[in-house]
Amino acid sequence: MQIYNTMTKKKEIFEPHEKNKVRIYVCGPTVYDYIHIGNARPMIVFDTFRRYLEFLSYEVIYVSNFTDIDDKIIKKANDSNMTTKEITEKYIRECKTDMENLNIEEATYNPLATEEVDSMIEFISNLISKGYAYKVEDGTVYFDTSKSVEYGKLSHKNIDELKSGYREIKITGEDNKKNRNDFVLWKPMKEGEPYYDSPFGKGRPGWHTECCVMAPKYCGGVLDVHAGGEDLIFPHHENEIAQFEALFEKPYSKYWMHNAFLNINNEKMSKSLGNFFIVRDVLNKFDGNVLRLFMLSTHYRTKLNFSFELMESAKSAYERIKNCVNNIKFLILNSGNSVVPINLKEKIFYNKDEFNEYLNDIKLCDDFNENEKEVINKVIEHIEKYFKSLDDDLNTADAISEIYEVVRIANQNLKDNDELIYMLFLYDIIGMMLTILGIEIVEDRDIDIDVEKYIEERNEAKKNKDYKKADEIRDFLLTKGIELEDTRQGVKWRKI
Ligand SMILES: [Zn+2]
Repeated sequence: MQIYNTMTKKKEIFEPHEKNKVRIYVCGPTVYDYIHIGNARPMIVFDTFRRYLEFLSYEVIYVSNFTDIDDKIIKKANDSNMTTKEITEKYIRECKTDMENLNIEEATYNPLATEEVDSMIEFISNLISKGYAYKVEDGTVYFDTSKSVEYGKLSHKNIDELKSGYREIKITGEDNKKNRNDFVLWKPMKEGEPYYDSPFGKGRPGWHTECCVMAPKYCGGVLDVHAGGEDLIFPHHENEIAQFEALFEKPYSKYWMHNAFLNINNEKMSKSLGNFFIVRDVLNKFDGNVLRLFMLSTHYRTKLNFSFELMESAKSAYERIKNCVNNIKFLILNSGNSVVPINLKEKIFYNKDEFNEYLNDIKLCDDFNENEKEVINKVIEHIEKYFKSLDDDLNTADAISEIYEVVRIANQNLKDNDELIYMLFLYDIIGMMLTILGIEIVEDRDIDIDVEKYIEERNEAKKNKDYKKADEIRDFLLTKGIELEDTRQGVKWRKI
């Protein structure tokens, strides 16, 4: 597999430190409000990366923090007459609910900044002893970027260029800094704010220190991938690198992955423009699988444009896949065999080796007729392209196109007298392609009537030649958005 490394600005062959283990750290949200859809993009992208690595048989340690001490949290707590802890606990809970609805696997660890303050104090003390940090009059401790020769290496910014803006800083109240890019390691306490005792006085650690203390700690000392949105490249990740490498004199992370921005109707999302969407509101209108399909339909390093119109087309695309899967399921259930297809929430194949074994069995199987063999060979070509796309810097956009191709082939070729193993093949392949991307096929959640019961009643009415009643039931279901189709195997229904 190749991934694009922001540090080298190149696609590189992915080789973690340990052969079968990958350690990933993804910067998590600051928990003072519901997460917005811009937060959801890195969550979905790097969860997909993780799922694919697991499919490739890697053991993945996935660490993502919650920033639970910050100016915005303190402000929100003061505004709403709650403690900062009450605020952060509430929004961590809400964030986890949204993540669950987006099928984001639980992280191996979700460290909290407030629980790691002791380690951060130790880290800052060590930077001071090594001459990389200094304390100014008001009690702020800064990192001295002039001591860091490689400062700017991740963002590929030129240090002189960075220094040129120094004069602006003079008006922001940080006029005690020695260099323009020096950043806060420790903030002195302000009246009414939560604080911690430290050798440099009462206060709290700066944001950039949080991640570079927690990432190595929870990933086991060494990082393969550090990831987040591209807005974190500078200054957040640049500052993490500067601190870590100053202290430990070894590379902080082997790879740096960043997803591109998300725009709304081609404009930057912002509260002041009135185009700010929280995940919760989007999920009230669309299934989490639709949002996931939508986000993964654009490559993660390409700017993503969000609009409700585009979400509607993602919804149609999802319904197309779902109808195809449900059709195959229906054919299998009514084929006279006692096979029940697995729910497309579970992993179809535990890993790629298991899948390859299955594929070999399919290739060797001689139960298929000529037409079926031809279809299977075509599908195999699309599976190969699907994996090739994911191996190419996690190109989920191209991988999803291959899913549509297989769906199209299945729709064109499936008949009710097909071999069971052939139908199962198509079902399992589409299921595998979806579940690697974390997209599930769910039963319709918003149907509050027992469709099967009505179908049974209608069958009964038809048996008694009461066609009027049978039609009434059909029409009633139609008003509920349920369409019936009579087939030789029985009655099929779908939501319209
Ligand atoms: Zn971070």
